[in-house]
Amino acid sequence: MHFARFPRVSLAHLPTPLERLDRLSKELGGPEIWIKRDDCTGLSSGGNKTRKLEFLMAEAMAMGADMVMTQGATQSNHARQTAAAAAKLGMACHILLEDRTGYQDHNYNENGNVLLDHLHGATTEKFPGGHDMPGEMQRAAEAAMAEGRKVYTIPGGGSNATGALGYANCAMELLSQVNERRLVVDHLVHATGSSGTQAGLIVGLKALNAGIPLLGFGTRAPQERQEQMVYDLAVKTAEKLGCAGVVARTDVRADTSYVGAGYGLPRADTIEAIRLFAELEGILLDPVYSGKGAAGLIDYCRTGKFAKGERVVFLHTGGSVGLFGYDSVLIDAGKQMAAE
Ligand SMILES: *Cc1c(COP(=O)(O)O)cnc(C)c1O
Repeated sequence: MHFARFPRVSLAHLPTPLERLDRLSKELGGPEIWIKRDDCTGLSSGGNKTRKLEFLMAEAMAMGADMVMTQGATQSNHARQTAAAAAKLGMACHILLEDRTGYQDHNYNENGNVLLDHLHGATTEKFPGGHDMPGEMQRAAEAAMAEGRKVYTIPGGGSNATGALGYANCAMELLSQVNERRLVVDHLVHATGSSGTQAGLIVGLKALNAGIPLLGFGTRAPQERQEQMVYDLAVKTAEKLGCAGVVARTDVRADTSYVGAGYGLPRADTIEAIRLFAELEGILLDPVYSGKGAAGLIDYCRTGKFAKGERVVFLHTGGSVGLFGYDSVLIDAGKQMAAE
């Protein structure tokens, strides 16, 4: 995989660390758990979108854009990292935010990622849940272009074949880390959403013939739709990279049993996962993605789906800034746990 062929701008601190989680592994009593710290990519507190933005923002620059637009949920980590990347590169940034949770409180609507969007100088616009966000973004881009702006639009989550290059590249980075340390990895898991992370990873793993099974823990869509979305993007990403046909539909696996009531709505096991990582490892997860991914990981360890003696790598996709938008949910859950 020849990434130097693609325009790329340096935004992330790479390689991100690969660390063993001794206390969590001991607590769960089964497999040896490792963590790939993509929460430490650096840009505006980091996260997985920064790897995608290295390729997306370079494409925007190559096209002469002076403004980027993107869309996401109110507490979108992708929006925050896009706003920071635009600031660093001297571009304007406009973000369309969709209310997917109905939370009315101040912190959800103004704190966390939203606070940082504004600190980075982005403008934001809010829409009710279920709105046609891609259509709305197209209209907003046309309006800005009519005023003389050169606009580059980035899909939700930065998930297209350009963004997914960042995760094909991450697969290569991870593989070189485990080979250097002579670690045999039995499973790689992470939270999956708009699909670019999983699509890029599976292309990279398959192209390198890594032999490491990948599993995405869902955060929104039902299983069949999630897997199809990842597969479709993986096909496009493989074509872009010149390795068409490398991913089979059966390579794409998602488990969506830990989503709960819906996107952005944490459940009890999400919050337990956040607490376990915080208390045992000093690592911050988030209530929308990594908390649900970790809930899946923990359950797989407890129920023996990941067996004793196996080695599991959890890709930490970031998102801890979102904790400050979810303080009411976390505090309520804390009180409940204390009362039990
Ligand atoms: C966006 C995001 C994900 C999901 O990644 P996709 O590429 O959208 O599937 C996971 N974790 C965090 C913290 C995210 O912000």
